[in-house]
Amino acid sequence: MRKHIVAGNWKMNNDLAQTELLITNLKRQNKTSNAEVMIAPAFTNLWQAFQTLKDNSIEVIAQNMHFADNGAYTGEVSASMLKSVGVHTVILGHSERRAYFNETDEILVQKVNAALSHNMRIIFCFGEELSDRKAGNQETVVENQIKNALFHLDANAFKNIILAYEPVWAIGTGETASPEQAQDMHAFIRKTVTNTYGPELANSISILYGGSVKPGNAKEIFSKPDVDGGLIGGASLKAEDFYAIVNAF
Ligand code: PEP
Repeated sequence: MRKHIVAGNWKMNNDLAQTELLITNLKRQNKTSNAEVMIAPAFTNLWQAFQTLKDNSIEVIAQNMHFADNGAYTGEVSASMLKSVGVHTVILGHSERRAYFNETDEILVQKVNAALSHNMRIIFCFGEELSDRKAGNQETVVENQIKNALFHLDANAFKNIILAYEPVWAIGTGETASPEQAQDMHAFIRKTVTNTYGPELANSISILYGGSVKPGNAKEIFSKPDVDGGLIGGASLKAEDFYAIVNAF
């Protein structure tokens, strides 16, 4: 069975004290679902996040990384640095990275290869812009984003890949894809993976939905057969809201 996963992307929010407080509140929540839970604090707070969580099953993950192992890349963080503090999963290709930091498919290929060579898991994000959807091009855009960054990989590598469909027009806007729009796209993504790698692999890969998921809409979105979880931005910053989403499974 595919894993259910709910991951909180904290983005550039929460200093050290706020990180400790939010994690303390997360630890107080009651988990009733079978979903794997992950949080992605800022780089500066990753180490402390592990200390504050102690033996809790919440996984601490990173929001990004550079493709090089080390060297003259001022301001960047490498896979080996992340692993040295205990991080084993990294978000790559978030639309904010693509839009504000010019992350292209070519850069993402290098990041994907670097993360996999360090045996890290990847939450790989992609999704169309509003103009793509208005023009009816959403499937072509999504297909190209996946193929360009991932389809050079051997089937075996996909055991470390989690896909996250995040329509750009639904991120941080309060605008959510309808559960049917999410299901249609997730089914299309699974078909795209099937066409190259076969149904067994496609049926084993978790596909998360991201874009203004809230306690009030999570249950309906997660009830769709091809939606295996969520990547949560704004609502992951409040422990009660985040766990209401986790427990929507
Ligand atoms: C995100 O940034 O990945 C995201 C889904 O944000 P939000 O939930 O705030 O739309």
